Formats: sequence, C-alpha cells, structure tokens
Amino acid sequence: MSHPLDAGETVMEPLRAPLVIEFDYTRSLGPVLSQFMTALAGRRILGARGADGRVHAPPFEYDPVTADPPGDLVAVGPEGTVVSWSWMPEPLAGQPLAEPFAWALIRLDGADTAMLHAVDVGSAAAMRTGMRVRARWAAKRTGSIRDIACFEPCDAPGPAAGPDHGPDHEEPAGAVTGTVTPVRLSYMHTASPAESAYLRGLADRKLLGQRCGVCGQVYVPPRGTCPADGVPTREQVELPHTGTVTTFCVVNVGYPGQRVTPPYVAAAVLLDGADIAFQHLILGCEPGDVRMGMRVRAVWNDSGGISHFGPAGEPDAPYETYARSL
Ligand SMILES: [Zn+2]
Repeated sequence: MSHPLDAGETVMEPLRAPLVIEFDYTRSLGPVLSQFMTALAGRRILGARGADGRVHAPPFEYDPVTADPPGDLVAVGPEGTVVSWSWMPEPLAGQPLAEPFAWALIRLDGADTAMLHAVDVGSAAAMRTGMRVRARWAAKRTGSIRDIACFEPCDAPGPAAGPDHGPDHEEPAGAVTGTVTPVRLSYMHTASPAESAYLRGLADRKLLGQRCGVCGQVYVPPRGTCPADGVPTREQVELPHTGTVTTFCVVNVGYPGQRVTPPYVAAAVLLDGADIAFQHLILGCEPGDVRMGMRVRAVWNDSGGISHFGPAGEPDAPYETYARSL
C-alpha cells in the first residue's frame, strides 16, 4: 500500500493548466444611478448638486456632507478637462479600448468633481493635463457607463459626437434599473509536486496521499508538508476507493452553470486510511438517505477523476471511527 520515496527517484514535472473563474455580478442601480445610466443611453451625462453647491459627476447617491439623497440631477458635459491621467500601454481584455490609451480623471463642464474614463489620444506624448476632451458615444447604447465608448480630444478630426450628430440607435425603453458586471479571473495554475502526483494518480484511478513521518497522519489530497509538524511528507500512500461520510449538507439552491440538479448532497468523505476528509458529491441515492457514518465508494468517470461517491452497501461506520475527523 505504501512505499518511501528514495533519494534517487526521478522527480516528475509539476502539472500546469489554465484556470478561469468567472461570474456575472448583478445589482440594482437604485434611484440615482438608474437616472444616470438611463440618461447615458440618451447621450446625456448627469451630475448631482450637493448641499455645498458643488456638482458631482457621476452623481452621488448620498450627499457627502448631509447624507441626504440628491434632488434633481443636472446635465453636465459632454465636454470636459483632463485633471490627471495615467497611460495604459498594453490594454487588457475587457478594457474600453484595445489600443494604448489613457485612464484619466475628467472634470466635465458644469461639474466640480472628476470622473474616471478612457481617453483615446493615440500616444502618451499627445496626452496632457488640462486637455479638453469630449465624450465619444457608443453606437449601441444600453444604459451603461460603456455608452461612453471613451473620451477624445476636442480638436480631434472627424465628426463630433453629440446629441445632434449621428443616427439615433435603439435605446432601452423606460428606465434602466439594473446592471450586470462580468467578473473574470484567468490564471495559470501550477500544481505542487505532491498535488501533481495526486492528479496523475487520479488519471490511473489511484488515490494517492502522503503520510507524515513524524505524526503518522495521512493527508489526501497530499499537501507536501504536514501542517501539524511543518515537515515534508515524503511517504506516498495509495488509499482504497472507499470511505465514510463524516458530515454533509443537502444543496437545495440552484445557480447558473450548476451541473447537478438540486437537491443533492455535498459531503466530507473520509477515505479509509486517511486522517483528513475531502469534499465530494454523494449521488446514487436519495439525499434524505445520506447520513453521518454512511459508507461510500468512489465512482470514476471515463476521463480520469472521481465523478462522485455512491453508497458502498456496507453497514454504517461507528461514530468513534470518524469522530476525530469532524
Ligand atoms: Zn505530522
């Protein structure tokens, strides 16, 4: 079941894979930002006058002095002055422009505060504080800050963008009350040597853990070190495909992208011979039949890896056998 790694053993290359975490963050805009976004769809920019007489653009939802909501919003821009800026030499995916541009704080005419937006000016050498800029409107407007495609120098050639220029495109009917912000993190994950061995084991339908040489605890998935003793865990252990449900929850809530239809059970499974449990699905029985101490067996999928755990058809494990892992 186990063998020590000896000094001459070849160390395999760690595994690497691109990972993407993404979700759409959806929020309601509230009464003030709803007016702001709705106006953008109509190529108008609104600000809010505060108790001290200053006009904030974008508008505040609560007055910074009195905490009161603003009264009527006022039109500002669409021209303004660059207050400060920073050059973006290599734009990232999802940013306003694909070519190098400036992030700038722009004080719109009629406003006392500045708003952040992109300025399309071609090169950093052409960018300057004090520059007069105007909004370039997106061809299709939906009631979003992206209805302003970017700002451009007022002396730039080409047709001026403004309410009197260009055809009217379809705009949202009625007030815009919500916004969706996509959140996305793309990164390259490099597995540790211990994790790499574990993942390679899964491809061969083996469950590989590591045992600490000091305390004897078996960790699966292996961490490479013992968190209790702080020493490397060098002994590899192959574990059986059976284990015990220590705790579990019934998932009743649906969400976008969910691969299993609720209700279903997510459980902590303590593999036989392991000292820490890991999380997995329990399928193959009614959620109401899952219980602490239930004996389960790994069900493998064709591509390598465990699809889920299902009932092993054995008598429940006595509480004392897994109580230390709760
Ligand atoms: Zn240890």
